[in-house]
Amino acid sequence: MTTKAIKILQKNKKGYVLIVESGRIDHAHHAGNAYGALTDTIELSKAVQAADDLTNDSDTLILGTADHSHVFTIAGYPVRANQILGKVKETDGKGGNKGFSLAADNLPYTN
Ligand SMILES: [Zn+2]
Repeated sequence: MTTKAIKILQKNKKGYVLIVESGRIDHAHHAGNAYGALTDTIELSKAVQAADDLTNDSDTLILGTADHSHVFTIAGYPVRANQILGKVKETDGKGGNKGFSLAADNLPYTN
């Protein structure tokens, strides 16, 4: 969508302003969906790259900003290299892991 928008707007000799929003990052954060927030952030990065590829730095300003933010919380005390979207594996305190960490309901939980 960013590429198409720029190609259309570049026909205007007076210049243009284009605002590209990636609101699904926020929706994912509100839903506690880390996967959605991370993957949509990657998509926003691709949109910025597309805009940079199609424009000239001498006459184009690309800004990245947010209207608000959310924290990205890591739950529990996972072992090093625990998959960010996986279930928390508990450390044994000696560099190994003791298997899945369990919540109060005796079930494993995600980071
Ligand atoms: Zn929000």
